Amino acid sequence: MIGAPRRPLVAGNWKMHRGGPDGADLARAVVRELGGRAPAGAEVALLPPFPAIAPVAEALRGTGLLLGAQDCSAEASGAFTGDVSAEMLAAWGCALVLCGHSERRQGRGEDDAAVRAKVGAALRAGLLPVLCVGETLAERDAGRTAAVVARQTKAGVEGLRAAEAARLRVAYEPVWAIGTGRNASPAEAAEGHRAVRAALAESLGAAAAEAVPVVYGGSVNPGNAPALLAAPGVDGALVGGASLDAAGFAAIVRAAGAAVPARGGV
Ligand code: PEP
Repeated sequence: MIGAPRRPLVAGNWKMHRGGPDGADLARAVVRELGGRAPAGAEVALLPPFPAIAPVAEALRGTGLLLGAQDCSAEASGAFTGDVSAEMLAAWGCALVLCGHSERRQGRGEDDAAVRAKVGAALRAGLLPVLCVGETLAERDAGRTAAVVARQTKAGVEGLRAAEAARLRVAYEPVWAIGTGRNASPAEAAEGHRAVRAALAESLGAAAAEAVPVVYGGSVNPGNAPALLAAPGVDGALVGGASLDAAGFAAIVRAAGAAVPARGGV
């Protein structure tokens, strides 16, 4: 089915790097590499660690690049030592936030219910939630990729109203490809994206599902980006390690502009 065009998204997840004054330096370098502005027709976002949110906001002012965060609390405020709410992120100019990155699902014990609560918190604060889903190597080897991706996707969007679903983005990130240098092949990425899209259609209905941008993440670099971004159903990239190099990240952004001509259905 061919639907309305989806806007490509390329987001740089800096993880726990560049959280000091060097964060603003990297943001300014990315802006320079992109010629001062985000390219028309694509969403480009930088996701620094929390301490760099405010200085990176300043560095991105007037450029059209979006600011985002890597996580948020499900709570709006209160006695939650060490947590940061979606409302706080919005107040500092964030537009989007990752929910359920595998490094939080695995390393911090976030289950599907916790991730769904964070999606809700992001929406409540006016942010765009980027729901992260993906199978481990053991799950892939056991032939459970589609089932795991479907479970995580459905749980992450359960009960969303149409207006909320319209703000959703999803990142398909096979866990075995994150930070390993071993990216999924374009065919494997397309297979994962099909599973995401099918689960979205079951939960949200075909038309709403069709409108959700779904990006690929897992060892994307300037070399493999053109092929991955051209894979069926891939609407952009969530980039970890390679986003710490301004020139490399800009090359991936340019590849997204070339490879993802704001297309419709998978
Ligand atoms: C990520 O952190 O979401 C990611 C995809 O990392 P990397 O690109 O380093 O695999």
